Amino acid sequence: MLNFKMIKTVYIYTYGCQMNVHDSEKMLGILSENGYRTAEKPEEADLIIFNTCAIREKAEQKFFSQLGRTKLLKKKRQDLKIAVAGCVAQDAKDNIIKKAPFVDFVLGPQNIHLISDLVSEKNTRTSFEENPDIAYKEYITKRDSSIKAWVSIMYGCNNFCSYCIVPYTRGREISRPSNRILSEIRQLHENGYKEVTLLGQNVNSYMSDIDFTGLLRKIDLININRVRFVTSHPRDLSDDLIRAISELKSVCEHLHLPIQSGSDRILDLMNRGYSYSEYIEKINMLRELMPGIAITSDIITGFPGETDEDYMLTVKALEEIEFDGIFAFKFSPRKGTKAFGMSKHLPDNVKTERLNHILKIQEDITYKKNKMIERTIQEILVEGHSETDKNMLVGRTRTNKIVTIPDLQENVGSFVKAKIQTARRHSLYGINIHSGRILN
Ligand code: SF4
Repeated sequence: MLNFKMIKTVYIYTYGCQMNVHDSEKMLGILSENGYRTAEKPEEADLIIFNTCAIREKAEQKFFSQLGRTKLLKKKRQDLKIAVAGCVAQDAKDNIIKKAPFVDFVLGPQNIHLISDLVSEKNTRTSFEENPDIAYKEYITKRDSSIKAWVSIMYGCNNFCSYCIVPYTRGREISRPSNRILSEIRQLHENGYKEVTLLGQNVNSYMSDIDFTGLLRKIDLININRVRFVTSHPRDLSDDLIRAISELKSVCEHLHLPIQSGSDRILDLMNRGYSYSEYIEKINMLRELMPGIAITSDIITGFPGETDEDYMLTVKALEEIEFDGIFAFKFSPRKGTKAFGMSKHLPDNVKTERLNHILKIQEDITYKKNKMIERTIQEILVEGHSETDKNMLVGRTRTNKIVTIPDLQENVGSFVKAKIQTARRHSLYGINIHSGRILN
């Protein structure tokens, strides 16, 4: 057995979504219980973990090229341990070791609790078993922030959107018992956390003894200042849930609701389970009940068979809905998904052209939306100092917009009332008009 005491520092590369960011926090928590501390740089680490993302080819390539560079470190230091975790690990399984024999451990997202066992092994180990117990495990978590926390409420996904690898890498949907979620949030509140973000691939379909609406109502009673959640699926966003979002004071006025395309034909090919008009109905109800709500979305350009007409329907959707912001990506074929085998894949230059066009249109819309809150008073949760100007603080509004304000000696984690002076494309500049706890 390798002596634990000999391996003391760990460096984690985290790729992809918030689920991975939080999984890295959990792995760091488990390892810190076993005597590890975090290394500042990979060169200083005894253990390097790659927590990978398989959702797009680019993220996967980024990981493989970083892994290639890490091989040189391993050549210099034979005692260095390298682990690959996350969705690429689950997808490629033993092929990772075949491709990169210097990797010591490979583990899927449902097996992160095994990280401490794996690193104590002398030989190469892999672990990809389906683990439905994941929802019942309690993780010691080494959180990155002392004011904002991720809280997993469910794992996996049952939706099988035709382009998405996640149901294959993270397994079937399973919800965490509500009492465990509530006690984790109570604890965070007691420890001074101001904001929680509930995490799941499709949080709206959460179901334990209560559904997602019921869960939000119970969380609201804890009185933590801000509650957010990602990701919502438009099909599962019920009227009841929209009403709850509008009523509950802790739930922030921001919703990320991926639309993916404005064309019903493409939405059908994507297996998204809603039409454009159904999506619009939800947006209308959200805005009717919460006029100031910020809505952000995801778009995929160049899905197989997307015609100019389909694409223009997406452009029309952007112009009609006017999202506060979007994440847009080119369609990335993922082996094993239904869309991978579809005909009429588009050339890369068409996908890129459409992506750039969409981003350009959205830039103007985002700017317009930001301009609309100039001269309004917003509650800012201070997150830290600006990277470019240490005299300025950076925080977020309840609608999740980034605001820079002068540092009048407010603490990180405090709430500041600020008047928005200037709107920029990607951020806002405000002036402090009142510091202190505003809610509760
Ligand atoms: S809802 Fe669709 S896009 Fe989201 S994780 Fe599940 S399959 Fe993937």
